[in-house]
Amino acid sequence: MQKRPDIIDFTEIAAEADIAASRHGGRAKCLHRLVRLDLPVPRTVALSFDAVHRIALGEAPNIPALLDRFGPEPLLSVRPSPESADWGGPASILNIGMNAARHAALCDSIGEAAANALYLRFIQAYATHVARLDPDIFEDDEPSAAALRAALDAYTEETDERFPQDPGQQLLEVLRSMARAWEGTTARLLRQARGAPADARLGLVVQAMALGIGPEESGSGVIQFVDGATGKRSIRGRYLPQSQGRDAIAAREGALFLAWDPRGPALEDRCPEIVARLRRYGETCRMNLREELQLEFTIEAGKLWVLDTPRVPRSARAAVRIAVMLADEGIIPREEALRRIEPRAVSELLHSQVDPAGPRQAVAHGIAASPGAATGRLVFGSAAAQASAARGEPCILVRRETTPEDIRGMHAAVGVMTERGGMTSHAAVIARGLGVPCVVGISDMRLNRRDGVLLTADGHKLHEGDIVTLDGTSGQVLLGEVKMLEPALDDAFQALMGWAEAACDIGIRANADTPADAQTARRFGADGIGLCRTEHMFFEADRLTVMHEMIFADRSEDRAAVLERLLPMQRADFTRLFEIMQGLPVCIRLFDPPLHEFLPQSREGVRGLAEALDLPVSDVQRRVQALSEFNPMLGMRGVRLGITVPEIYDMQARAIFEATIEASHNGDPVVPEIMIPLVSAMREVELVKTRIDSLAAAVRAERGVDFDYRLGVMVETPRAALRADDIALHAAFLSFGTNDLTQMTYGLSRDDAGRFMGSYVKQGVFAEDPFHTLDTEGVGELLTIGAERGRKARPGVTLSICGEHGGNAESIAFCRAAGFDYVSCSPFRVPVARLSAAQLALDQQIRAD
Ligand code: PEP
Ligand code: MG
Repeated sequence: MQKRPDIIDFTEIAAEADIAASRHGGRAKCLHRLVRLDLPVPRTVALSFDAVHRIALGEAPNIPALLDRFGPEPLLSVRPSPESADWGGPASILNIGMNAARHAALCDSIGEAAANALYLRFIQAYATHVARLDPDIFEDDEPSAAALRAALDAYTEETDERFPQDPGQQLLEVLRSMARAWEGTTARLLRQARGAPADARLGLVVQAMALGIGPEESGSGVIQFVDGATGKRSIRGRYLPQSQGRDAIAAREGALFLAWDPRGPALEDRCPEIVARLRRYGETCRMNLREELQLEFTIEAGKLWVLDTPRVPRSARAAVRIAVMLADEGIIPREEALRRIEPRAVSELLHSQVDPAGPRQAVAHGIAASPGAATGRLVFGSAAAQASAARGEPCILVRRETTPEDIRGMHAAVGVMTERGGMTSHAAVIARGLGVPCVVGISDMRLNRRDGVLLTADGHKLHEGDIVTLDGTSGQVLLGEVKMLEPALDDAFQALMGWAEAACDIGIRANADTPADAQTARRFGADGIGLCRTEHMFFEADRLTVMHEMIFADRSEDRAAVLERLLPMQRADFTRLFEIMQGLPVCIRLFDPPLHEFLPQSREGVRGLAEALDLPVSDVQRRVQALSEFNPMLGMRGVRLGITVPEIYDMQARAIFEATIEASHNGDPVVPEIMIPLVSAMREVELVKTRIDSLAAAVRAERGVDFDYRLGVMVETPRAALRADDIALHAAFLSFGTNDLTQMTYGLSRDDAGRFMGSYVKQGVFAEDPFHTLDTEGVGELLTIGAERGRKARPGVTLSICGEHGGNAESIAFCRAAGFDYVSCSPFRVPVARLSAAQLALDQQIRAD
């Protein structure tokens, strides 16, 4: 029979009913499954998305017919049923149908106290959620005859009407208010913030009340079979006698444990058979609904009812363990376990985190540039950081912005925060590489080094030595020490990563500069090193001095003598990297930054350098000035330095080749990859290639050993992308450096953009910070053009990206679609990238099937 369009439809949730999450919402579908599993669910009727929308517009369902489904004089609850439980929804309303007559009858059947409690709860909920009265007026009343009278009087006083007595009217008003609440702007914005689409819809379920307040054993509780923090199997939850809904969880006293527990009384002591049934139901749900669920139950005069089974709320580490356990037990396939984990959640496992359940007082906010959290004493300079580390005191380094001079301070600190900067500024890149938490672009704080204070916008004055906690995951600076969760690189994490590796169809390499980075890259299963920024190898104290001597060498022979001293150091660096990576590819980028970055900026620094080099201060000042540029990032750096001061690249190439021979002694032959930075013209590549080829020939001849190597180009200027065809003629690989490419495509300083990025994103000028999320439209088009032209000139050319975007799901999706060979990111992001890539590959398989 065809349905009449003017009738608002509802469906009783019976085993054979046609209920779908996409039409009735997740809760309705869940209850439908429980009914089919023969669990004792109170009678329930589902109202579809369409029905609820029409109710919001002012239409009404056939209320007498709806009430009729529940027999004479029912007490009902109405609960929200959006498609995903994560999107929230209006509060459930219990005990609809309570009125004076019902109250009197219940006084006789279950006692006055119980009847008062049921009626009062309904009045409180109706007054605040339906009549929208001030909750303060109704909130604090404990159930009693006087409280009930007061609530009824208050209702009349506030509305000039008697509390509605007709159950039909009560139900209709509840349905209407819940339907309308969903369509309001605030509710829409709230759920969108939780990931709901703009057009997310609401279903409602109307359910017969199981009365947890009444005679014999009556009460309600929540039980789950895993620990939501760790994911390990254990019975958790509470039961509260004479209660309804989720009262047991909120109760300050009187709640019982579920299973026997040495800490206090348990429901199992009183009703062992009920707990045994709950355990059985839990297992049935787990096996059939293939998830760890919480059972919300009510005991009504000794009879057990299951009202709902939401997903167990869980931490990131618990999510991983639960997914792996379900897959190990064959309840879900491994592919599904992989798809259930948010890649971002994996990064929470790799670092300490602020416990979300603990208290926190935030005093400043910035860009969350490197995840994890750490507590330490504030220090305002690198020397203080090193001194603090030497005393064994963890410290948080605060700088306006960091420069290469701060590297040692950053190594010594457990966290780094800067007033300026964005996702790809120096502090951010280095901190991510080191795996230490970092917050940059904290524009609501001012560092006053002279007075030794850090002022926050809300008036807090922090001094050097004060203890703070830096939360690099949320971008907050917190006062004092807070409760932390430790990293969890446990068996479950390892298993998940192994499965991800098997599913992944694009290479994931790590940006690694030091042996420690390389070890981390190996530990996280990287397919090789995609970017070794060699300048980071010059920051150790002994090397920095030699570097300074090189910068100050005026004559070519002096420079050659200094480079001669750097050569064995670099050779040892590369040998170690090759050894750690055991035959996996290692891509070494030749020296990139402008030389002046290695020179001190402050007066004390200049004086110290003059002392170390035995030169007059004025000479040092002159040299610093001579090297300084208005736009150093667009100046004498990268290949430009390589062409004008070629001895540096010569030394590096020789060190790479000699290390190649050394590392190949004990294992498979190493094939190093050498990458030229900041190229914008083919001739630059030709010139560098000629020198490197002849150095390779010289080393082969000197050592009498043959070896291979691959020379490639870093595409990080727009011109290099546009001219990728002729550049590729001389390059075995093209690696897109999306940090500089983003900077140059937008004409936006990667070090300063943090100052206004927040405002730009808030006003929708940019959808996201392009230094964080790859701009697939603009920068992406340059990547596509570069890849196409490069491939056309050299069909087998290896393509990759190595900017900070490399670890993000969006850029990985882009690179897979464009047929890139690998992405390269900070070692700590390798697992996140691996999981994202695996999920993308699985999604594609599913679409193809
Ligand atoms: C880049 O520019 O994307 C890059 C990886 O190089 P760096 O961050 O060292 O400039
Ligand atoms: Mg670059």
